[in-house]
Amino acid sequence: MANFDNWIANRTLNFDSSGIRKMFDMAANLEDPINLSIGQPDFDVPQPIKDEYIRALNEGKNGYALTQGIPQLREKLQAEVDQNFGHDDRDVFVCSGTSGGLMLSVLSLINPGDEVIYFDPFFVMYPAIIELTGGVSVKVSAYPDFKLDMQKLEDAITDKTKMIILNSPSNPSGVCFSDEEIKGVAELAAKHGICLVSDEIYSKFVYDRPYVSAAAYNPDCIVIDGFSKTYAMTGHRVGYVHGPKKIIETMLKVQQFTFVCSPHPAQWAGAVALDTDITPYVDQYRIKRDRLLEGLSGNYEIVKPGGAFYAFPKLPEGVSGQSFVAKAIENNLMVIPGNIFSDYDSHFRISYAVSDEKLEQGIEVLNRIA
Ligand code: PMP
Repeated sequence: MANFDNWIANRTLNFDSSGIRKMFDMAANLEDPINLSIGQPDFDVPQPIKDEYIRALNEGKNGYALTQGIPQLREKLQAEVDQNFGHDDRDVFVCSGTSGGLMLSVLSLINPGDEVIYFDPFFVMYPAIIELTGGVSVKVSAYPDFKLDMQKLEDAITDKTKMIILNSPSNPSGVCFSDEEIKGVAELAAKHGICLVSDEIYSKFVYDRPYVSAAAYNPDCIVIDGFSKTYAMTGHRVGYVHGPKKIIETMLKVQQFTFVCSPHPAQWAGAVALDTDITPYVDQYRIKRDRLLEGLSGNYEIVKPGGAFYAFPKLPEGVSGQSFVAKAIENNLMVIPGNIFSDYDSHFRISYAVSDEKLEQGIEVLNRIA
């Protein structure tokens, strides 16, 4: 047998997914757990979207799609982007999920040694894709209130800073940055000539005020969004990117030789998804968010999440994420320790994208073990 350690590229060595696997291993024997660990909606894909997927399959939409996406979807997205931003230089293409778009953005823009700034807590994929492209992660803490401190951000910028990744509403905190914070980051990136990548996958799940994209304040901003969360299509792998033409052309060139295209029938489903009103789902999640905050008040410190379907409560004093999660699992409850999403082990993530019944059970257990 070969020495497989010698086969494995160095770029894969500095990140791992063992934390989350450990959690799922511990929970493997639970029967019908109260699972508040899942990062996807609990509603099923709306029927018209499924019907269109099946129609596309049956009518032979099974071959390669154009790498930039089928015109029926791409043109709808382009019209929406033109209407929202009115930028002269803003093109859209369809990618394999938001993850695909994020990967293409770093592959297209990051040279080895380039620094990429993002806020801690962060979506788990960011450190990994930066590491894979030889970039250097520079994390700016958003603790304890998950607000963006412009001074800390400015202090983190060096002559090696190439990119800032912004994610609002945020995974794991659910926090939406204020318009002022978004404007501040957008203008700071423009002032320093830094690429701003805005991960807007939760843009449709906002509960207290209208969504504002960083691209509203920075015409060069690269926006990555997708259908996974909005229409519960996480397994379909449809996302989209919009930004300056020259950058989009480069990302498309890389997509052509890597992902090739987003799955063809799923793109037809995506075109129908854009006509689907998801307000009832968003309204339900707002109610669940409010119920969770009310149910845990008094026992946990939680920054009010304005979007997505997560809350990120502080751990009880002196308790590690690992031991808290072990205690939760003993009580048939699955939540995720915060250090999966952070350099700090001070919080845990709850997903409230579950039935009301499971949510009530989760609240009961969390209060019992607080
Ligand atoms: N960005 C964030 C912040 C996410 O939470 C997720 C999914 N958990 C993604 C990107 C990736 O989503 P997808 O690739 O399914 O579109």
